Amino acid sequence: MVGYWSNGDDNWPRPEEMIDVAWSIGERTVVADYLSRGLIARVYLGKAVCRICGEVLGCMDLSDGCYMWPQGLEHYVLEHAVRLPVWFVDHVLLQQQSFEDAQVCDTQWSRVRADK
Ligand SMILES: [Zn+2]
Repeated sequence: MVGYWSNGDDNWPRPEEMIDVAWSIGERTVVADYLSRGLIARVYLGKAVCRICGEVLGCMDLSDGCYMWPQGLEHYVLEHAVRLPVWFVDHVLLQQQSFEDAQVCDTQWSRVRADK
């Protein structure tokens, strides 16, 4: 899990404590873009609200198959510079690089023909 915030009676982090305006917009944009492309893992009836500005953020948890985060985490990263832990940012950058480095193979697809 990443990006779930304290309700006051637990030891979870608060987004206000994680704001880092020195976090580069370039890296924040890469991380936010990655967060926006997660697969839907859970859907709730109620919508989450930003703990900082009150904006309505969504009602889903997203996942990349390894981590799960609330749909609105992208908002915290982009709009409030809430810095995510280095282990998650490293994960995102590694995944991003693996997409860039992936070799494209079309041999199977080029042999596909419509069955009639
Ligand atoms: Zn906000």
